[in-house]
Amino acid sequence: MTNSERGAGEAARDGHRPAAGADGRPAVTVEDLRLTYGDGTEAVRGVDLRIPQGEFFGFLGPNGAGKTTTIKVLSTLLSPTGGTVGVNGFDVTGVPRKVRESIGYMAQETSIDPELTAEENVRFACEAYGVPRGDRQDRIAELLELVELAAVADKRAEEFSGGMKKRLDAATALVHEPPLVFLDEPTTGLDPKARNRLWEYFEAINDRGTTILLTTQYLEEADRLCDRLAVMLDGAIVAEGSPTELKRRVGGEVLDVDLEGGADARRRAATIAGDFDAFADASVEVTDEGISVTARTARQHGTDLLVALRDAGLTVTGFNVRAPTLDDVFLAITGDGLDDDADAVSSEVSP
Ligand code: ATP
Repeated sequence: MTNSERGAGEAARDGHRPAAGADGRPAVTVEDLRLTYGDGTEAVRGVDLRIPQGEFFGFLGPNGAGKTTTIKVLSTLLSPTGGTVGVNGFDVTGVPRKVRESIGYMAQETSIDPELTAEENVRFACEAYGVPRGDRQDRIAELLELVELAAVADKRAEEFSGGMKKRLDAATALVHEPPLVFLDEPTTGLDPKARNRLWEYFEAINDRGTTILLTTQYLEEADRLCDRLAVMLDGAIVAEGSPTELKRRVGGEVLDVDLEGGADARRRAATIAGDFDAFADASVEVTDEGISVTARTARQHGTDLLVALRDAGLTVTGFNVRAPTLDDVFLAITGDGLDDDADAVSSEVSP
């Protein structure tokens, strides 16, 4: 989407962010949302969602789950095939302009103009969103500083790396300080330092009351930032809760076992762990170092498994029992890790 498509001249004319949370109305209400593309692809199949004002909400899910499609409906870029969608109290179908005025949207594809400088891009967004003339210079300087582009403010965006373009895009999407922002994989391709700077910025605007709906492939990012998460799979929400609730739902703890030997040793160990009676409810994953076993009795019977592995001629070089992470949650729900090196042997943990 280009800057002008974001609602040029329509948005937040007074330049003030409406007081989030003041009227108690949810930022997002979605009931039985359905979206079928022209070619018949059912991208969203009955999604219900309620995001209170001020919440930092995260959408997780594998590629193709329907996250971007949902965000595009919320930001009025796609019309729903079915269901009702309210954004900041406005119906996306009935009053799309009102919706656009009250949101910021950072799409997966950057929407900056490569022929303009960094400063000109932010200035253009200020004009498009009606940021008061007197506030513009400070807003531009503040945003460019924040996304670490102040030193290259006069350089054309076409000279920027992918990461720099992403940072500039973040700045332009937020110039009008909207009460609700959609961030679709905002930190993809950024190095850890730049990612951290953006996280701090997102946290700061959320602390000021801005509602955020984020999609991300980085589970660490979701864990750090989000109050609540929904996991999407095949166009439906299959799990929802705070990061802590979701981790608790995995059940039990995770036993990581490091093993000597190659892939064959790891596979044999996974089979032994999968058949292990004391871990009846376990899910077992082959890792780079050995295996990872998630089970309610991981701590209680962990040493029994280590003995069984040794009796089978395998050499354990290290082990650790830990609380589940969001990676374990994701694996349990989707049967697959976000990074493709994990190999799920069995997954019997239901969301
Ligand atoms: P990603 O992280 O890859 O963006 P996602 O969860 O955001 O994944 P969507 O981009 O919403 O998923 O895609 C949901 C489904 O809709 C996928 O099967 C995708 O191939 C399909 N899809 C997306 N855009 C279109 C389109 N314009 N026409 C037809 N099908 C589409």
